[in-house]
Amino acid sequence: MEKKKGKFPFIIEERLCKKCGICVSHCPAKVFTAGPGNEPRVTNPRKCTGCNLCFFRCPDFAIQLEVSP
Ligand code: SF4
Ligand code: SF4
Repeated sequence: MEKKKGKFPFIIEERLCKKCGICVSHCPAKVFTAGPGNEPRVTNPRKCTGCNLCFFRCPDFAIQLEVSP
């Protein structure tokens, strides 16, 4: 898995996300903020360190690697 500092390398698949907030609370770089419905929003993508914690912690596999077309 490519680790690029300063770029959020994932997409959040909304249809799979149950808005549990785990990614929001576990991201050490505070890349996410919770929206009004507790949905994760990528508000600080440039702070992403590429640690992949959000990817591994999401219980619903809603955080997926962004695949270039
Ligand atoms: S951890 Fe996964 S299911 Fe939970 S809010 Fe984040 S993306 Fe959604
Ligand atoms: S890869 Fe790490 S730093 Fe980047 S958004 Fe996920 S938990 Fe945060």
